[in-house]
Amino acid sequence: MKVSNNVASVDKNRLCHGCGACSYICQSNAITLKNDGYNNYPFIDIAKCNQCGLCLKVCSGIHFDLKNTSCTEQELLLSKNNLYIGHSNQASVRQKSASGGIITQIILNLLREKIIDGAIVARNVGTIPDIGAAVVHSEEEVMNSTSSIYYPVSVCAALKQIDRNKKYIFVGKGCDLDSLNRISVIQPWIGKAIQLKIGIMCHHTPYAQETKELVESVGISNTRLTRIVYRGLGWPGDTVITSGKRQYVLPYKISWGKYLGKNIPFRCKLCSNGMAGHGDIVVGDSWKMNPLLQKDLNDGYSLFMIRTDAAQNVLDKLCKANDISIEPVSSKFLIDSQSNLISKNESALFKVLIFKLMYKENLLNNTSFRYIITDTIFIRLLFSFKGLRRLASAFKNYYLYVKNKKDM
Ligand SMILES: Cc1cc2nc3c(=O)[nH]c(=O)nc-3n(C[C@H](O)[C@H](O)[C@H](O)COP(=O)(O)OP(=O)(O)OC[C@H]3O[C@@H](n4cnc5c(N)ncnc54)[C@H](O)[C@@H]3O)c2cc1C
Ligand code: SF4
Ligand code: SF4
Ligand code: SF4
Repeated sequence: MKVSNNVASVDKNRLCHGCGACSYICQSNAITLKNDGYNNYPFIDIAKCNQCGLCLKVCSGIHFDLKNTSCTEQELLLSKNNLYIGHSNQASVRQKSASGGIITQIILNLLREKIIDGAIVARNVGTIPDIGAAVVHSEEEVMNSTSSIYYPVSVCAALKQIDRNKKYIFVGKGCDLDSLNRISVIQPWIGKAIQLKIGIMCHHTPYAQETKELVESVGISNTRLTRIVYRGLGWPGDTVITSGKRQYVLPYKISWGKYLGKNIPFRCKLCSNGMAGHGDIVVGDSWKMNPLLQKDLNDGYSLFMIRTDAAQNVLDKLCKANDISIEPVSSKFLIDSQSNLISKNESALFKVLIFKLMYKENLLNNTSFRYIITDTIFIRLLFSFKGLRRLASAFKNYYLYVKNKKDM
């Protein structure tokens, strides 16, 4: 794709997903992340920018890594990765987490055993402006970064806080991990410092505005908000809004159904990386439950895929220490549990190809037109049919074949 030499065009073309990698890599401090009610985006101080182009190199918003990140139904059926459902055996962790607390338990154990010095995570420590990513080092800090934050979080920006001589876990969405990988190519020491990459399955990040509307729906303004927990109190978890001494509780079905799931950002519609292709392990919700386990469903289970030996070793250690309980599941179970996410990933493949074609051939100069055409009802309908989603997967393979040939 033809772009100017910094990431200004990424946001202009609505391709920014707000990972924050550009602000981390910029050596001139020219990039500040902002939020105007939608996603986090880079604001560039042109006077400081030397046009080095590094920010563009690490940006996964504008680069679509279809080869390493997409995860179609067919690919999942053929995959040899180990799949499990499970949960932390520590009641407080399981209760405070989004699903079964597998991510939090891994961080706690590796910190305790001093295998890592810290973890790069999304933190929800206070009111809305305090939602952000940080490096956490203590058990208390880890327990303050449990559960899902349905608000834009720029995880890669927190890389500024890491020490090149120490070891870390990185937790992020597929797009955060994709950018992290790009950063590691430019700065290999980052790749060495990150011992384990944990991906979270991700359908989309809700805009900031949606949290504002959610908070206002209980009759308080954002400025009077003390704390918001999107998924607390069991599984799938109620949204708990605190303002001073008052607490308001909204069922997940209402908070996600009516507010947070309402709009899908354009870049998320083009995302086929909902299964965090670069993660050593990827964790999501077990939306479909094993009937044998149905009795304690309210306590939550994480559904996860192990992609590397490093992740499998960590998991085995946690099981041996009896800190987690897990049980293997089939690809079919994962597909049934994540059918929404997988069909979105598959339809995104085709959308990306259309978008790329329009971009490359400059078929439409106006971004809004490209945007509308890529997201027509027709395209959406087309991919509501399973067979046609498979066609998208075939398109992807063909596209990669042509691209590989060109690159050779
Ligand atoms: C925006 C978003 C969309 C999601 N969409 C889906 C989906 O479609 N299907 C599905 O099955 N699961 C989805 N998830 C994942 C799911 O909600 C849980 O995060 C996952 O099951 C892990 O649960 P856990 O109990 O093991 O994690 P926990 O032990 O609760 O740990 C959660 C970890 O995720 C990190 N985190 C929280 N919010 C963010 C964020 N916004 N960006 C980066 N890191 C974050 C936290 O720092 C923490 O380390 C989504 C999560 C998010 C944040
Ligand atoms: S082109 Fe270089 S100097 Fe300019 S914003 Fe990007 S990284 Fe910073
Ligand atoms: S690096 Fe991330 S935050 Fe920066 S422009 Fe790209 S997608 Fe947006
Ligand atoms: S859908 Fe994709 S681009 Fe959007 S937040 Fe999730 S991983 Fe990032």
